[in-house]
Amino acid sequence: MQQITIIGSGQMGNGIAHVFAQSGYDVTIIDIRQEALDQALITIGKNMERQVAKGIITEEEKNQSLQRIKTTTAFDKGVAAADLVVEAATENIDLKLKIFSDLDRYTKAECILATNTSSISITRIAASTKRGDKVIGMHFMNPVPVMKLIEVIRGYNTSDEVTKQIVDLSLKLGKVPVEVNDYPGFVANRILMPMINEAIFTLFEGVAGVHEIDTVMKLGMAHPMGPLQLADFIGLDTCLSILRVIHDGFGNPKYAPCPLLVNMVTSGNLGVKTGQGFYKYTKGVKELVVADYFTTK
Ligand code: NAD
Repeated sequence: MQQITIIGSGQMGNGIAHVFAQSGYDVTIIDIRQEALDQALITIGKNMERQVAKGIITEEEKNQSLQRIKTTTAFDKGVAAADLVVEAATENIDLKLKIFSDLDRYTKAECILATNTSSISITRIAASTKRGDKVIGMHFMNPVPVMKLIEVIRGYNTSDEVTKQIVDLSLKLGKVPVEVNDYPGFVANRILMPMINEAIFTLFEGVAGVHEIDTVMKLGMAHPMGPLQLADFIGLDTCLSILRVIHDGFGNPKYAPCPLLVNMVTSGNLGVKTGQGFYKYTKGVKELVVADYFTTK
């Protein structure tokens, strides 16, 4: 396996391209927007520059890694030679079903098709192809060059052989793969999102304020970031959509999203990306100002 194609050059796609190129693979990144591809190359260059400054890689390794990355907006040409495709396009089911049915047409028969989806069923995505045995979840964590985990998600028909190839490949990237089965939320989000939702309910019911809830979880449980701040970083719209997938998937009311989360998303308070969520970010992320609406003090 040498030629890797990444679909989508956003936050995750550029991080995934970064780690593959740095591990010696030839990488092609595809996006529908040329400016996203241009921006991805700038971001990858800057992130590798930071690694050089920290002594993690040499200047020469940086240059060699960057030379291994090509970009294109031409889908068919970009996937034709791929041994593995990692799809990291926008989290939208119809979009992903279309991409995978196109991948089935334009890639070599032996090409493995992986998705970095946070919440969409791998089995459902695989059903849009005629090679369900070769479709798998490869769930990288953000920021990809830093975070060690890859959640390797087996769809209902994913073969043992393909799972083993992806586990071995993840190790070659210097990551720690963890194999899980394809059920709503997989493992990471099935545990994380109900915790975030419960933190929001705790605020909503007036048990404690934003700062108090986050402090309890940081100092009491040694979490590096409180659940409300983490939700702001992930994006409250993303949290809500993942919770809805888990709620619909299991049909269990315990996963119902907190009405406060729904209101915040409806009103456009999505967290860091809009400058206000549970905290305000207008003075920069480091100067958090506790949102006072639901604070007890
Ligand atoms: P993003 O919005 O930063 O980037 C998505 C990119 O996909 C954009 O550049 C967009 O132009 C491109 N795109 C849209 N349609 C396309 C198409 N048809 N062909 C090619 N490119 C297309 O999103 P992101 O945060 O990088 O997330 C990408 C995927 O990774 C999603 O499935 C998301 O759920 C998953 N994910 C995200 C995170 C995270 O923390 N952001 C973590 C794990 C997994």
